[in-house]
Amino acid sequence: MVKTADVVIIGGGVVGVSIAYFLARRGFGRIVVLEQETIGAGSTGRSVASIDLFSHHPAAVALQARAYKIFLRFEEMFGAECGLMTTGLAVLAGPEHAAALEQAARLAEAVGITCQLLSPDEFARLEPAAVVDDLAAVYYAPGGGYADPMLTTNAVVAAARRTGVVIEQGCKVTGLKHTGGRVTGVDTSAGAVAAPVVVSAAGPWSKRLLKLFGLSDLGLYACEHPVISMQRPANFGPPHLSILDLPNQTYARPETGNLTLAGSMDRGVGYEAIEPEDCYGQVTAEYTFWVAERLAQRYPVLEVAQLRQGWSGLMTISPDWQPVLGALPEVAGLYCATGFSGQGFKISPAVGDLMAGLIAGEVEATELLAPFRPSRFVEGQSLATGQFGALG
Ligand SMILES: Cc1cc2nc3c(=O)[nH]c(=O)nc-3n(C[C@H](O)[C@H](O)[C@H](O)COP(=O)(O)OP(=O)(O)OC[C@H]3O[C@@H](n4cnc5c(N)ncnc54)[C@H](O)[C@@H]3O)c2cc1C
Repeated sequence: MVKTADVVIIGGGVVGVSIAYFLARRGFGRIVVLEQETIGAGSTGRSVASIDLFSHHPAAVALQARAYKIFLRFEEMFGAECGLMTTGLAVLAGPEHAAALEQAARLAEAVGITCQLLSPDEFARLEPAAVVDDLAAVYYAPGGGYADPMLTTNAVVAAARRTGVVIEQGCKVTGLKHTGGRVTGVDTSAGAVAAPVVVSAAGPWSKRLLKLFGLSDLGLYACEHPVISMQRPANFGPPHLSILDLPNQTYARPETGNLTLAGSMDRGVGYEAIEPEDCYGQVTAEYTFWVAERLAQRYPVLEVAQLRQGWSGLMTISPDWQPVLGALPEVAGLYCATGFSGQGFKISPAVGDLMAGLIAGEVEATELLAPFRPSRFVEGQSLATGQFGALG
């Protein structure tokens, strides 16, 4: 077990290991990741890992575009594949969301995301199995899709290790050390590690960890989010697009083996607060029917789809359903990257790169991450609009 480091990162999820990799690539010194269980044991290993190129917020869509560029050349950068599948993304809107969709399309185009607005009839030609009567407009990004969260994370881990990063698994951070308002290290289940910079990337445990450190919990909470899995009938035809269905408040994406993964985008369904150790890991019948019924309203042929084993996992929700990224003002040298509100996988490479840039004092990274700073909540600078449900 190492005793000193230049940076300690708490959490071996996709975010923590990405930050470690990009710091090491910048030659930032000895980087150590401390993970209480095993790599990917938190949200990451349970992620649906959709790469939805869509947001109502300019800063958020800029992170998506930046991350997507990395996903496109992932193997070249990390030396192993991430399982990227480009299914195309369609965001379906009724009349009440049509104007917001148009605005989101302008934001996406401004950061280089290829997208277009389709009429319901144009969408029906693209997706013949879908009902379009209730739709007013569809946002279509052909590059959207998904990747494999553990392939991605393990590829980043391997690249980080090759660049000199030390990863300690089964090592729980139990306290923060600081003197005179500056971080000096952490206490762990395997002894103390001295370091002038500490990054908390503890996912659903972030609230608890911040409280343990005697700091504001930033209004974060952990929730258990279930995902259903169903086998499409043979007459469905080719796989559907990845969809965010605003009228029905559901999302769905295809998976290999004629499967469809789906869940709720309604903040009141499948996003209830929970203590991390109470995570059930399964999907209730009530939730399954809630999602399956709505999905069958959109794709009637799915009424006879066969249910397969779903799962649930922990997410970390922030007060405005946007990530919390940056320096914690109470203690110099302490940073956090958390609060991804169910959307951390798709931006993880950009978060890793920009958090590393922020810690290294780079101007561009500092500017791009400024809207997500932890202090925004006390400054009254919330990024909330609430117009797209669980999308923020
Ligand atoms: C069911 C589900 C579906 C999702 N779907 C999508 C999606 O489609 N698209 C998308 O972009 N995102 C999605 N997400 C969200 C995405 O998976 C997360 O935002 C992302 O994985 C967060 O990564 P992380 O590294 O921040 O957190 P985590 O993966 O949770 O990693 C945090 C790590 O910190 C460790 N840790 C905590 N406390 C300590 C401590 N005291 N000491 C040491 N280690 C500690 C934990 O063990 C954990 O491994 C989904 C999440 C879930 C659960």
